[in-house]
Amino acid sequence: MTDSIPTPPRSLDSLRASIRRLELDSRDLDPGPETIQTWTRQVGVFAAEFVADLESGPAFKALEQNQPQHFPISETPGSLDALLVELRDKVLAFGLNPASGGHLGYIPGGGIVPTALGDYLAAITNQYAGMFFAGPGAVRLEHDLIRWMCQLVGFPTTALGNLTSGGSMANLIALATAREAQKVRAAEIHRAVIYVTEQVHHCVHKAIRIGGMAESIVRLVPMDGAFRLDPVHLIQQIQTDRANGLRPFLVVASAGTTDTGSIDPLDEIARICSETGIWMHVDAAYGGFFLLAADGGDQGRILSEKFRGIERANSIAIDPHKGLFLSYGLGAVLVQDVGPLHRAHHYRASYMQDTLRATEELNPADLSPELTKHFRGLRMWLALRMVGLEPFRAALKEKLLLCQLFHTAVRDLGFEVGPQPELSVCIYRFIPTEGDPNEFNRRLVETIQRDGRVFVSSTTISGQVWLRLAVLCFRTHLEEIDYLLDFLARAVR
Ligand SMILES: *Cc1c(COP(=O)(O)O)cnc(C)c1O
Repeated sequence: MTDSIPTPPRSLDSLRASIRRLELDSRDLDPGPETIQTWTRQVGVFAAEFVADLESGPAFKALEQNQPQHFPISETPGSLDALLVELRDKVLAFGLNPASGGHLGYIPGGGIVPTALGDYLAAITNQYAGMFFAGPGAVRLEHDLIRWMCQLVGFPTTALGNLTSGGSMANLIALATAREAQKVRAAEIHRAVIYVTEQVHHCVHKAIRIGGMAESIVRLVPMDGAFRLDPVHLIQQIQTDRANGLRPFLVVASAGTTDTGSIDPLDEIARICSETGIWMHVDAAYGGFFLLAADGGDQGRILSEKFRGIERANSIAIDPHKGLFLSYGLGAVLVQDVGPLHRAHHYRASYMQDTLRATEELNPADLSPELTKHFRGLRMWLALRMVGLEPFRAALKEKLLLCQLFHTAVRDLGFEVGPQPELSVCIYRFIPTEGDPNEFNRRLVETIQRDGRVFVSSTTISGQVWLRLAVLCFRTHLEEIDYLLDFLARAVR
């Protein structure tokens, strides 16, 4: 046990003696180089075993009774090996395994290994990535990643943004920026109008509420048969709302909806937004990185065509922890004009902006709700630099083709399918000769989940239960898709 806090008066000598004792008592916080190497090796062995087991292991394991157990904290130190066993058996053993190639539900993530190395190094060095003055290298590196993404979507070189924890935060920042840019005051929120479709991600509704816009009017613009926003309805609705004295200020389009991977007609929406002076935000959290696959060939041309107009958006949300296969914890918001982003989030007088020398970067802390933050750019930089871009492009193209293959093959099995997949998500369901189709398809999902080798999820669209295939994990290959097709064939036979 440590001494209690000393109370004066004490001689300097006795104070020094107490301080020395406390220094000794706390030395386990700062192990030497050899221990660092030992710990790192132990974690490395664990990581290699974890990844090796993925090939044959389940993508999903249902919770058992009384799981998970609690994780009490105690005064006594524990061995890393024992704690790794606890992690494996008590934390990782149940629920979804997002690192598995069998994860075909929701929007799968990734977990490519360089992410982990980047996080490790970011944690060891603990660079302060919130302010240029404190971490000029870290901030420049993060901003260069943001500028690379801006280039990918076709934004000008002056565009910037912020690395966030994920797409939800990116959308929230974008919406706060739109409100700021459009000068929507709290007093007129009830007249302000936001346009989305029924298929917009729920985090946009969350962001509207958190961003103080809950009392604004949210219009669900009708969609075409492929779940894409109908621009004719959009322009009509905007005109009607203007004529009625309302203040249309924001359209949220999706470049890859979660349910079906649909891409709204971005070019037409951009034209409408620029003609009416409305802020255009694109939620490309899921779909954005498929732009990397648009690098030639017929498929590339079709893909570029689908994304045409994204470069005219005012802001974009994009998730490296989806389409770049990084581990959870990295999204990004990109803005054409950094001005309103800064005005909405800076915390000192904005005169700071003009005093920046040309060589300096804006402070990420002035472009986001966060102040102190994880140096989260390192994971992305390390991954892109260690692997190079080509394997990312190949993996994204593979995912697109796997989804196309599944869409055709599952139809051949007698399933009803949704629209031709635009990206790597598609919906399908089986219509049994008798009984409630919704009930049948709900049971089918449960059966697949109970088997657990692959994981699929379902959705309800216009009252109909559909199964979804979402291919985005870098470890998902033909083998997993064939397993699911075989399983489905047996299940409906
Ligand atoms: C995943 C997703 C989000 C939310 O992003 P998080 O990273 O989960 O916070 C938003 N929009 C779309 C289209 C998504 O697929």
